Amino acid sequence: MPHTPLTTLSEIVLPLLAWYHTSARDLPWRKTRDPYPIWVSEIMLQQTRVAAVLGYYQRFLAAFPSVEALANAPEEQLMKLWEGLGYYSRARNLQKAAKTVMQDFAGKFPDTYEELLTLPGIGDYTASAIASAAFGRREPAVDGNVLRVFSRLEDDHSDIGDPKTKKAVRARIEEIMPDSSEDIRVFNQAFMELGAVVCVPNGPPKCLLCPLAERCLGRKRGTAESLPVKAPKKARRVEEKTVFIFSREGKIALRKRPEDGLLAGLWEFPNVDGTLDEAAAGAQAALWDLTPVDWDRRLTAKHIFSHVEWRMTGYVLSVAGNGPEDFFWADGATLEERAVPSAFARFLTEAKTALNKENPEP
Ligand code: SF4
Repeated sequence: MPHTPLTTLSEIVLPLLAWYHTSARDLPWRKTRDPYPIWVSEIMLQQTRVAAVLGYYQRFLAAFPSVEALANAPEEQLMKLWEGLGYYSRARNLQKAAKTVMQDFAGKFPDTYEELLTLPGIGDYTASAIASAAFGRREPAVDGNVLRVFSRLEDDHSDIGDPKTKKAVRARIEEIMPDSSEDIRVFNQAFMELGAVVCVPNGPPKCLLCPLAERCLGRKRGTAESLPVKAPKKARRVEEKTVFIFSREGKIALRKRPEDGLLAGLWEFPNVDGTLDEAAAGAQAALWDLTPVDWDRRLTAKHIFSHVEWRMTGYVLSVAGNGPEDFFWADGATLEERAVPSAFARFLTEAKTALNKENPEP
């Protein structure tokens, strides 16, 4: 870490707070101190852009207006409300945490960083964000935005993917955090907001609009655009899959994914590992006790998760037979209700088309 005198960094506090009060985006979760909606927003915003979250946030809170309502929510409804946001384990953890708040904290949200960390799905960043925004606690919330702004402000070339860097940045920011709970509430959000809209991740930083430009070493030394330093990620693992859209008497076969692992407990179209040609796909259908009656079409699709990429080949075909016990034959209305993750979006469209062909509108 470079040896910038602390006084230099502490000078950012007042201009940052002043800038936030005049320039921050008007977002619904910033208008409350209730930890429940703040927590929901923080979980939704993980790996998801603000614009994409807004509608989900409003619908989610309308359906589950309290921790208690979320703890008692039917799983199908919860997953349906999350459909399209991705990273479904976030929704499951939200509900697990809501149950823990009801059982272990008598329905009252814990108000310290340490207790928040004990809840499922809440890590260092989220615990700090809730503790500061809802309870005014002096906890720095260090996300990717903060790491980027800090690296540029300090002309710091440490790898931000290294947990040691994050720890060091957290400690430096803690030293300069304001004391009043009102200012603390704003400080973390202001740092993150600056990273989201001014010291942006894609494209050059907008230094002409930046309230911290006078104190920014990266700008002064011309290094800002090449910061932060991040060691390259490992390549994603590629998995091939063959997906079956089986239709039978106006219904499509679905099955539930296992209760743990990727997309746990969500609905999917039957599929197997590997890319099967038509003959092998027919043999697989036979293994499931299904007899192909009419092969409609073959298609391909790709879905990228954070660590895995699925390359999928799909077959749309009508069949005779019931298939194995874990197959659920869904009509059009049921298909709409089930939470089928966006990894299967291409096949969901095909399934609906196949149903429409079998049951044309009168
Ligand atoms: Fe980022 Fe530029 Fe502001 Fe420095 S001056 S913090 S590089 S936007």
